Amino acid sequence: MNDPFVCARCAAKGPTCCELTPGCEEVCFPVSEYERERIRECAPDLGGFVLQPNTALFIDNLFRLFPDQRRAVKELFPPGGTHYRLAVDERGKCLFLGQHGCLIPQDARPCYCRLFPFWTTEDGRINVLEVATCLAQLENKSPGKLLKALNVSQVTVRNLHETLRRAWGFDPHHD
Ligand code: SF4
Ligand code: SF4
Repeated sequence: MNDPFVCARCAAKGPTCCELTPGCEEVCFPVSEYERERIRECAPDLGGFVLQPNTALFIDNLFRLFPDQRRAVKELFPPGGTHYRLAVDERGKCLFLGQHGCLIPQDARPCYCRLFPFWTTEDGRINVLEVATCLAQLENKSPGKLLKALNVSQVTVRNLHETLRRAWGFDPHHD
């Protein structure tokens, strides 16, 4: 069942997907030049980005997200290189998070934010990135129910995932 207020209820309870655990910044998802440019056009004076080393933990996390793309991950995010991530405050909150939610217009937000909590496997199956504090996940145990609760279609998830792959530099049609 569609639940238009689940994210607002989650925000009232906290923490949400717009916060990370302080000290875990290195595993925050990357934000590509394409995504940063779109955000700068819509929200030039807000939030910010941090240049982050491609640590072993960060690369391992990408291997988990793209298990069949290890070669591409190493080429796009080589050890010793860097990438940009969202800037956060000392409590781990994204600097683009305002009092009433994200300050960036929906269609200019980072692809990962727009896709969360969904992901797509290499063969096109939709799965859920499990996060213990996500209220929508706690209340909707199957991907189908979660899609309905968040009013997201399978087509939207697949399209967003393709957009993310392109933005991050992955071949949309796989290696
Ligand atoms: S960019 Fe917006 S949606 Fe993404 S983590 Fe920051 S506040 Fe949340
Ligand atoms: S997607 Fe999940 S973690 Fe993010 S605000 Fe909604 S309920 Fe909370």
